[in-house]
Amino acid sequence: MNENSLKKKLSKLKLGGLRYFNSTGSTNDEALAWAAAGAADFSIVVADEQTHGRGRLDRQWFTPKGQALAFSLILRPSNSHLSHLSRTVGLAALSIADCCSRLGLKPQIKWPNDILLNGKKAAGILIETVWSGDEVDSLVVGMGVNIHTASAPPARALQFPATSIEDELGQKTPDREDILFDILSAFLRWRGSIETDELLEAWERALAFRGEQVQAAGDSLVEGELLGLEPDGSLRLRDRKGDIVVVRYGDVSLRPMP
Ligand code: ATP
Repeated sequence: MNENSLKKKLSKLKLGGLRYFNSTGSTNDEALAWAAAGAADFSIVVADEQTHGRGRLDRQWFTPKGQALAFSLILRPSNSHLSHLSRTVGLAALSIADCCSRLGLKPQIKWPNDILLNGKKAAGILIETVWSGDEVDSLVVGMGVNIHTASAPPARALQFPATSIEDELGQKTPDREDILFDILSAFLRWRGSIETDELLEAWERALAFRGEQVQAAGDSLVEGELLGLEPDGSLRLRDRKGDIVVVRYGDVSLRPMP
């Protein structure tokens, strides 16, 4: 992967701009700064290595050199997107999931921000907002996708098992640039449908643990059967008393019931 080959590979997608780094701290940090400096809609920052990749709450996201995809998209949301901002994580998750499905894999979305292959985490999403006063100026949608075996961190470093596309395919993995092209193509398709039931239904169908008992640990612990999604992408559970409980976005970790 290098800047020239990436530019060529992605040329059909009408990117706002592209910045490539052999190594950087965090593609989201680069994208946040670029967005604040006026980057055009659908600009992208790609790195071959992140030295301080971030998950939620500044948890570390590993991106060893040459092994993974780490990129951040800058979006300047349309009015219909602005009315459905909380669906952005679903849009990103579906884009990665579609690409995995095209490779013959069976991806699932671990709400809210991870993609599982065979029950293990293969990708994560981190969305951050650039504000202009109290209006949204732009969104930065960061995605980390484990491509080669060495991109999945060792189990001792993790609270949830990890895997890579290569491990799950068990055969030669497509080039990272081809995978990025597919994810971005899917993103563009879904982006035009952000307000639709089609997007919500596809997102819901792809949810991991649907119909199963789960624990959602955030400010409080909620347990129940995972039923599906609310229109804004919040998670809907049925607790032991039979009451419907809605788990809103936030720092929530979802787990199957032990
Ligand atoms: P969890 O998956 O435990 O519910 P989370 O979704 O909140 O947590 P994030 O903040 O999205 O997790 O991601 C950071 C966490 O993901 C890290 O704390 C680490 O455990 C794990 N992790 C870091 N890098 C990778 C990677 N390349 N592949 C899979 N998991 C990773």
